[in-house]
Amino acid sequence: MLELHLTTPERESPASGLEAGETGLYDLIVLGGGPAGLTAAIYAGRARLRTLVLTGYLPGGQPANTDVVENFPAFPDGVAGPELAQRFLQHARRFGVRLETDEAVKVDFSARPFVIHTSKATYYGKTVIVATGAVPRRLGVPGEDRFFGRGVSSCATCDGFFYRNRDVVVVGGGDSALAEGIFLTRFARQVTIVHRRDELRATKIYREQALANPKIRFLLSTVVEEILGDQTVSGVRVRNLKTGETGIVEADGVFIYVGMEPRTELFAGQLELDEHGYIVSDRRQRTNVPGVFVAGDVQDPLYRQIVVAAGSGAIAAMEAEKFLGGYPDVSSQPGSKAP
Ligand code: NAP
Repeated sequence: MLELHLTTPERESPASGLEAGETGLYDLIVLGGGPAGLTAAIYAGRARLRTLVLTGYLPGGQPANTDVVENFPAFPDGVAGPELAQRFLQHARRFGVRLETDEAVKVDFSARPFVIHTSKATYYGKTVIVATGAVPRRLGVPGEDRFFGRGVSSCATCDGFFYRNRDVVVVGGGDSALAEGIFLTRFARQVTIVHRRDELRATKIYREQALANPKIRFLLSTVVEEILGDQTVSGVRVRNLKTGETGIVEADGVFIYVGMEPRTELFAGQLELDEHGYIVSDRRQRTNVPGVFVAGDVQDPLYRQIVVAAGSGAIAAMEAEKFLGGYPDVSSQPGSKAP
């Protein structure tokens, strides 16, 4: 009888004394679970890198809070944002990536391997991809903080439902303001879009749809100076920038879409940031720290599209893989300082 000698190739052990596992050493730690981070994870997982993704508290990222995405390739009929977010997560899981609904509270990019602290654990990464994205900018007017989450929102998908047959104000003139304003007309009686210039920034397709929507009206060259209300929001005080005229627009809810701000506060002093706080990188998604890469909205003040974020995530993961090919044998203990 033929005797079969099956040999299993030996598992590669982590380069340092730490086991890859619960809080151990990873080839790659991805900070952020939006389209950029998850695409990086898909590529890294498929390349068999031991990969951990700290997704933050909105797994799937901004699409999870978006009604419908009409311009992600290969979805000719559009796709619901939350569904797209789930598909990104599912795809990353398929390649054995570890996903944690957690976020970094402190990083040390001067140590080798890099050290990432969350409020629950400490992780070590031979490489890191920062894909922490961007958060909605606040208007900075009286009443905004007080009513945020109670009549003031930056998420029509989450909160639009509460405004059935009510009147709402949307602040901003970009794609988000118009897209979400259009979405809100499904519920609201009237949507007033208040924009500071007399020209909308949004792309033509949204401008056309919004202008054709009978529930939407525009207040141009107008700024919101205060969000008014007692227990609940009752309206906004506005000022026309051309005439100086002030007035009150009555509303039950206010949705603020005045752009995004990169989430980079953790990296100040360690990664090079531009004057607006975006992480500076080269065409290969490399930051000023070798082994730390960046992808998505946190480094992109210009395009901020899902497909662009995903593309930069793929590049970052491929570069991380390349970097690991030349990674020195880590004989030093995790957390030791780089020479
Ligand atoms: P945005 O394009 O930066 O537009 C922000 C808007 O807010 C602008 O109209 C701006 O006015 C106004 N604004 C900024 N600060 C303000 C302030 N302090 N007070 C009053 N108004 C203020 O941001 P966004 O609309 O969130 O879009 C972000 C990115 O996501 C863009 O690249 C956009 O194309 C993309 N996006 C794409 C889609 C899509 O393709 N499906 C959907 C949503 C968003 P000014 O115009 O005067 O600067």
